[in-house]
Amino acid sequence: MNTLGIYVQVPFCQTKCTYCNFHTGVVSSARFAPYVNCVCGEIAGHRGLYAAAGITLPAAIANCMVDTIYVGGGTPSLLDPGHLARIVAAVRENLVCKLTEVTLEADPETVTEEKAAAWVAAGINRVSFGVQSFCDAELQAAGRMHRRADVYRAAAILRAAGIGNISFDLIAGLPKQTRETWRESLDLLVGLAPEHVSVYLLEVDEGSRLGGEILRGGNRYSAGDVPGDDEMAEFYETACSVLGRAGYEHYEISNWGRPGFASRHNLKYWRREAYLGFGAGAHSFSGTERWANGHDADEYVGALTAGRLPVEQVEKLTAESALEEELFLGLRQLEGIDVGRIEREYGVSLETRFARLRAAGLIEREGSLVRLAPGRVSVSNEVFVELMK
Ligand code: SF4
Repeated sequence: MNTLGIYVQVPFCQTKCTYCNFHTGVVSSARFAPYVNCVCGEIAGHRGLYAAAGITLPAAIANCMVDTIYVGGGTPSLLDPGHLARIVAAVRENLVCKLTEVTLEADPETVTEEKAAAWVAAGINRVSFGVQSFCDAELQAAGRMHRRADVYRAAAILRAAGIGNISFDLIAGLPKQTRETWRESLDLLVGLAPEHVSVYLLEVDEGSRLGGEILRGGNRYSAGDVPGDDEMAEFYETACSVLGRAGYEHYEISNWGRPGFASRHNLKYWRREAYLGFGAGAHSFSGTERWANGHDADEYVGALTAGRLPVEQVEKLTAESALEEELFLGLRQLEGIDVGRIEREYGVSLETRFARLRAAGLIEREGSLVRLAPGRVSVSNEVFVELMK
């Protein structure tokens, strides 16, 4: 039986980190309950809301069993635990569920013993922490609310509460980060033995205050102290070797897990399996169609209160765009893609596209499997650009 993932977006934060390019807002906690009411309403009424918005949910998806929920943000751990319990309950009550992985994104400073116990009682069994760095000077420069000590405190609380699956995020390229502090963050992370690790490279674009400042050549937000591209690439390679030596399997460009701890929910994205997203800005994929809710939380609440889904983008995938997704999403997984299956399914030959990349040493082929060549994962963007030509 096919399975379905559920994503719930909580677009609220305590402050805005300087590097953040997400659509999240700092709002009064009085706004949380009306938002959660609307999310629960969207979950309960999703079939009718989709139909009214012109979205067709294939029968095979409508009756799929939900095995993963991912509550992301923003900072969903800011919500009252009762809100989170209501969201998980709404999924259980309105969809066929056999939940194996229920993830909550959390910021370390928001974790308390009471919250952790309530999360476990609500069925949350995985926590993804926005650690970003173990170096307080970097955390401060990035506008983060937590410090290194909060990570240790929060991790101990979660373990004591019975959370057996913890993921830590790190960012390579934060202002003030050096080769030494990056190595220290990796070593301290390994010392805390999370089951899963994500390493992201700092994104520089106009969507964040820090990115805009870097692009303008300014020095606010410590923009002048951001490592260069070569250093960032070196940091990524260091992460690969430190995490590999510590026993983590590198299964996706940005993700590592102890054996058996790859994120089941996130694998659905790269494998093009179906997921439904609820909340402002949440994206959904039915296998044939992609759509997203508008990201403005106020407009979302207004629309849902009026009984309407504020869908902004609906895209019926053509065979060509589905094939492109198979390649650039699939190749993010280090195990690679099954070219034989893709060629059969899409009635194409991919040999010409792959020949150039193989000749350049960027990919390797083993029977029907094609994957990024070892040591070339950090230049994956080049591979994707070439593939789409
Ligand atoms: S906590 Fe995360 S979502 Fe919120 S502002 Fe910081 S980076 Fe953005």
